[in-house]
Amino acid sequence: MVSLVDFVHSEYQGGYPNTRGGIVLGMSTATPPGGPTRAPRVPLESLPDQVTLLAREVPLGGPRALLVRRTLPHRDLRTIGAWCFVDDYGPAVTSTTPMTVPPHPHMGLQTVSWLLAGEVAHLDSIGGRATARPGGVNVMTAGSGIAHSEYSVGDGLLRGVQLWVALPEAYRDTAPAFHPIPQLPASELSGGVRVTVVVGEFVGAASPAPSFSPLVGVGLRTDGSARTELPLRPDFEYGFLALSEGWSVDGQGVPAGSLRYLGAGSTRSSVVATGPGDALLIGGEPMVEELLMWWNFVGRSHQEIEQARAEWANGERFGTVVGDDSLPLVAPELPNATMRARPGRPRRARPR
Ligand code: MN
Repeated sequence: MVSLVDFVHSEYQGGYPNTRGGIVLGMSTATPPGGPTRAPRVPLESLPDQVTLLAREVPLGGPRALLVRRTLPHRDLRTIGAWCFVDDYGPAVTSTTPMTVPPHPHMGLQTVSWLLAGEVAHLDSIGGRATARPGGVNVMTAGSGIAHSEYSVGDGLLRGVQLWVALPEAYRDTAPAFHPIPQLPASELSGGVRVTVVVGEFVGAASPAPSFSPLVGVGLRTDGSARTELPLRPDFEYGFLALSEGWSVDGQGVPAGSLRYLGAGSTRSSVVATGPGDALLIGGEPMVEELLMWWNFVGRSHQEIEQARAEWANGERFGTVVGDDSLPLVAPELPNATMRARPGRPRRARPR
């Protein structure tokens, strides 16, 4: 079957020139049934305080493909804090649509594998080995370079989110590390919303996951209709990923699978759920550094991406995934044109 990373190959190859001179990543050119789902084009500098980014629904295989809903990177929004990649997948029955991601490299980022249902086994080139399950998270710091593979386990239901965090300049060459966290801290907000702190700190609970920039990621769950206020940091920008129907934020409905950008400068958002469901709040200090994302790499220049690609092809730098004899993935061809980094937004709060 076509894997998640195979898809990343083809999608990234399909990136198109950006008017600001980079390559826009993660854009599907296919129009989904029911018409285009993209938000209207808005210049990066004048992104509204709040905007809903509708997911591109992407099949990861044949007729019974695992569907992934990708909301970041988006043409109109590169990052939220240092969060630079958001894929939401399932529910899928793994007996017919397993997740199969053979060995592939990463650099300059962290992967955050967070599950609502099912299990995903991780193996990597520094000897890391752990199975991610609901209630916990697997965080991998790629730093200067690592290779890993991921496979769903068992024949049950699979539902999860794969996120990437861009490492800031000072830490992007840090040594690779793997942090399996079996149980994340949980807490409760008034009004019937339970929270799981995946990354960072929220309502007095702190995740043990390492982060290299001011960052937060929080799972939200309700067992029925609920209404609460999310306490926010005004120096952070936030996004609200609806993982089920029935959510609204600050009076605005957020369709399942879409990401509501909440901007920065606010101390709270009101959240309503009309029934049981899940959501993910992500946030962080707006990332001002330029980034060049290509394939599974986050870098700063065409030259360093080209070098990383060559090193993977030559079996250098990233190592060999321990205990996985599967054929490693091959990087796509580089585009003919020189790729350029995509700028961050100016660091300024947007009062609202
Ligand atoms: Mn990966």
